[in-house]
Amino acid sequence: MGFRHMSFFNLVEVMRQDGCPFCRIRVSAGRRYLTTTLYEFVNDPSVRQHAAAAHGFCREHARELRLLIDPLGVALLHETLLRHLLSASDSELFSAPRAPCPACRYASDAVESNIGTFLDNFAEPEIHSYLEESPAICFVHLQQIARSTRNKAITRTLADVIRRKAENLYERVRRYAESENATLAQGSKPETHETIWLECLEFFSGSDSTFDGER
Ligand SMILES: [Zn+2]
Ligand SMILES: [Zn+2]
Repeated sequence: MGFRHMSFFNLVEVMRQDGCPFCRIRVSAGRRYLTTTLYEFVNDPSVRQHAAAAHGFCREHARELRLLIDPLGVALLHETLLRHLLSASDSELFSAPRAPCPACRYASDAVESNIGTFLDNFAEPEIHSYLEESPAICFVHLQQIARSTRNKAITRTLADVIRRKAENLYERVRRYAESENATLAQGSKPETHETIWLECLEFFSGSDSTFDGER
């Protein structure tokens, strides 16, 4: 049995909630970065430099910043960037950002560290039973987990999870399309109670906005 520590229990807790646990970790870490930055570190020169080097925030995190409604904090975060632009040469004005969105970077560090925890504890019963049932981990994160390990037994298990999920979705997409076509052929309006299309989006594109209700 591996060393069971706090980070594993936290991960198990996230795995009990809806949706891909790693998408959830990514979304909540990004939010945590933005709120602590706005409320505690907005005057920290290195935080402002990071935001300036990234040319501000990506669209997803700019949207989060709008929702957090801290006008002064957001304005201050952009002050350094604006000062840079005002003293930049033409070519510097057109250059690509020197760093990724700082909230994205913080979020991807959190995902990586949780993927490490997931792999370190792969033999634990919580992980086993989670993968046995229908795990909600999205395709992108299943791939990222597999790429983060050289353990053949683990990658085989993950490949199995992807195939099982794809098989389930494929069968249901096919049945759904058939029944919709049959309904259309009869001239009646199709009923769209089926959630398969949402499940396809969630599996392949992950969940960005699923957790909007939680702050
Ligand atoms: Zn995911
Ligand atoms: Zn971002």
